[in-house]
Amino acid sequence: LLMAYDPARRLARLQVSLERAAVNARMVYEILDTVPHQRDKPGAKQLTFDGATVELRDVRFRYANGDEILKGVSFVAEGGKTTALVGPSGAGKSTVISLVPRFYDPASGQILIDGQDIADVTKQSLRNGIAYVSQQPYLFEGSIRDNIRYGRPDATDAEIEEAARLAYAHDFILTQPQGYDTAVGENGVTMSGGQRQRLSIARALVRNAPILLLDEATSALDTESEAAVQKALDEAMHGRTVIVIAHRLSTVVNADKIIVMKDGLVVEEGTHEDLSRRQDGLYARLHNLQGKVPQASVDAEI
Ligand code: ADP
Ligand code: MG
Repeated sequence: LLMAYDPARRLARLQVSLERAAVNARMVYEILDTVPHQRDKPGAKQLTFDGATVELRDVRFRYANGDEILKGVSFVAEGGKTTALVGPSGAGKSTVISLVPRFYDPASGQILIDGQDIADVTKQSLRNGIAYVSQQPYLFEGSIRDNIRYGRPDATDAEIEEAARLAYAHDFILTQPQGYDTAVGENGVTMSGGQRQRLSIARALVRNAPILLLDEATSALDTESEAAVQKALDEAMHGRTVIVIAHRLSTVVNADKIIVMKDGLVVEEGTHEDLSRRQDGLYARLHNLQGKVPQASVDAEI
């Protein structure tokens, strides 16, 4: 039983399940600590977080042998605030998010956290400060407890339970046959979409990281799950620097700043109020607002 907690064995088991599932690399980095570490720059320093402001400066990026996907992206995600990325599918939103934990490196330009270029710091110190919740949460074979613990391998059972409570997952976990020791089955087939998401949020919360990257789910959850997931996300977002790929209007409206992307570029930036006033803007067209704030459209329908 002790061996189950041996990190090397844990990693080996994880790699086996990853190979079996042939998962998209993006799913893997949901559990940042277990991504095999690429080599750090000689003399790489520890990243020190001080408010956790993230800044992209003229970032260009292409996937291997592909076209340029990011064509000079610049924006600031203020520490402790929520920045929403919106835009059509294929605009480059998920790619932007994947550069922050250095899952990939930009071809040119810089990404700074609290003024430190992330290319110059150790990957471990960078990733320790980041939690990520993907659009399609990935669960591994193992117990519910193991799945939350992937967020931070040294988390105690009490910390795992606390994270699950905050993520509104504790109650449904207790209804499972063996509670926290219940096996989830490959990719959590026995659980509903909302339950999988809340486990993934618990995994992010147990990291207690200053930066949260969030790829919001598009799939329709039932109303009860949707409400529980929303509460869990509100809890996870509280007091952190959040960069969220937002699909729900409620997330976008409540964001401190909205970055509108199209074809690998930032085309608009501002608050919901700012952007919905630009009648011809992409944002207004995306949400079919035509210059109205949502309240106005609601009023118009009554
Ligand atoms: P968004 O999240 O805004 O929908 P993405 O960042 O996922 O956009 O994708 C931007 C572009 O990059 C798309 O053309 C997509 O096909 C391409 N792309 C995404 N991931 C990869 C990858 N792993 N390899 C090659 N191309 C990719
Ligand atoms: Mg995406």
